[in-house]
Amino acid sequence: MELRSPESFWLLKNGIPYCYPSLQENIECDIAVVGSGITGALISHTLHRAGYKTVVIDKRDVANGSTAATTSMLQYEIDVPMHKLAELIGEEGAVACYREGINAIEILEAMLRKEGIDAGFERKKSLQVAHSEKAVADLEKEYNYRKAHGFRVEWLSPEEISVRYNMASHPGILSEEGASIDAFRAAHELISRNHAGGMQVFDHTAVKEFQYEPDHVKIITEEGFSIRSKRIVFCTGFETLRMFRKKYADVISTFACVSEQSFNLYPQLKDLLIWDTADPYIYIRTTDDGRLLVGGEDIPYKYNPVSEKMKGKKRDKLIKKIQKLFPTLTFLEDYTWAGAFGVTKDGLPFIGEHPDFPNAIFVLGLGGNGITFSVQGMELVLKILAGEDHPLLHYYRFDR
Ligand SMILES: Cc1cc2nc3c(=O)[nH]c(=O)nc-3n(C[C@H](O)[C@H](O)[C@H](O)COP(=O)(O)OP(=O)(O)OC[C@H]3O[C@@H](n4cnc5c(N)ncnc54)[C@H](O)[C@@H]3O)c2cc1C
Repeated sequence: MELRSPESFWLLKNGIPYCYPSLQENIECDIAVVGSGITGALISHTLHRAGYKTVVIDKRDVANGSTAATTSMLQYEIDVPMHKLAELIGEEGAVACYREGINAIEILEAMLRKEGIDAGFERKKSLQVAHSEKAVADLEKEYNYRKAHGFRVEWLSPEEISVRYNMASHPGILSEEGASIDAFRAAHELISRNHAGGMQVFDHTAVKEFQYEPDHVKIITEEGFSIRSKRIVFCTGFETLRMFRKKYADVISTFACVSEQSFNLYPQLKDLLIWDTADPYIYIRTTDDGRLLVGGEDIPYKYNPVSEKMKGKKRDKLIKKIQKLFPTLTFLEDYTWAGAFGVTKDGLPFIGEHPDFPNAIFVLGLGGNGITFSVQGMELVLKILAGEDHPLLHYYRFDR
C-alpha cells in the first residue's frame, strides 16, 4: 500500500537520520512492536523504559510511512466537534476524549524535554474558523459547549481575527492548547536513543506471516527468520485496516504544500494552528524552519497513486484558499505531497485488543489527531499489559 508520495517534506528536510540492520537470525523477546512510525516510536519507548524486552521491526526505513508525510498539528480538538461526539458516545465520554488530547500534548512535550530531543515542538494556539456564514451557528454551539465544560476557548469575531492575524474569515474559536512538531524527527530520535539503550530495531524486515499461539506470537519474516514474542503490538498505521474482516475506517488521500522559507510570513501566524469547518477542512501551520504549511483537499484513497497532475491541481486549490484567507500574503510553493489518512465515524482511534488476534494489541491513531492518540496509546498499552482497565479503552475499543 502506498502511504505517501515520494517527496514528502519531512523526509527531504531530514533525510534518513538513522538506519538499522534487517533481521538475519531467530530471536525472542517480551514484546514485538511492528511499525516504526511515530506510534511505534512512542509505544516502543514506553515498553522499553518499563523494562519489557522490546523489539521493533518495520518493512520500510524507520518512520517512512505516514509519519514522513504528516503535518503534525497537535490539537485536542477531534475531527468530530465535542457537542456532536457527545451525541455519539455521551457527554462524559466526549469531554474525557477532548481532555485527554490536552494531556497528550503535555505528556509529549515533557517526554521530549526529558529526553533532550529537539523535534521542532512548538506550543501554539488553535483557531478554527467557520468556512461559511451558514457554518457559524454550529461553530458557536461548539464554542458554548466547550466553554461550559471548562475548556479555555475564546470566540473571535471576523474583526478580531483580522486585527490579530491579518486574516479575512468568518468568526472562529481560539483554543489555548495546541502545538506542532516534526513527528518524523521525533520518531527517529526516540528510536535511536532506545536502540542505544539496548532496544533491538530491525528495518527493511517484511513479515510473511503472524502465527498467533495461546501463549505467544511468532513472526516469520520474508527472509525466513522468526521473532517469538509473548505479545505483539501493531503500530502499523493505515495498512493495518486490511487485516480485519470489518471495515473500521475509510482511507483518504490528503494533500499538503509548504512555502519557501522566510517569505513575507506574518509573525502573528508563528504561534497559531488554523483550520476551518469545511469537509474536507483546510489546515494551516508554520514550520520550525519558517515556512507556511497548508493541507487539505482530501480525496478517496482509491485514486492512489496520486498523479503529478492531481497534485498540481490540489496545490493550486490550496494556494488559492490561502490567498483568500490572507489577501496580502504571497505564498510561494516549495514542495507539495500527498499522504494517506484513516477516518473513523466518531473521529476516535482504535486502541486495544481484537478477538481475532490473540496476544496482540493494536494502536491505530486514525483521524486528524493520530499523533495525540498515539501518545495516549502509551499509557493504554501498559494498562492492557497489566490487565487493568482505563475509561479510554472503552471509547477506543474495536466493538464500539
Ligand atoms: C498529509 C497528512 C497530514 C496529517 N496531519 C496530521 C496532523 O496534523 N496531526 C496529526 O495528529 N496527525 C496527522 N496526520 C495523521 C498522522 O500522520 C498519522 O496518524 C501518523 O503519522 C500515524 O503514525 P503511525 O506510526 O501510526 O503510522 P505510520 O507512520 O504509517 O507507520 C506505520 C509503520 O508500520 C510499518 N508497517 C506496516 N505494516 C507492516 C508490516 N506488516 N510489517 C512491518 N512493518 C509494517 C510501515 O512501514 C510504517 O513505517 C496526517 C497525515 C497525513 C498523511
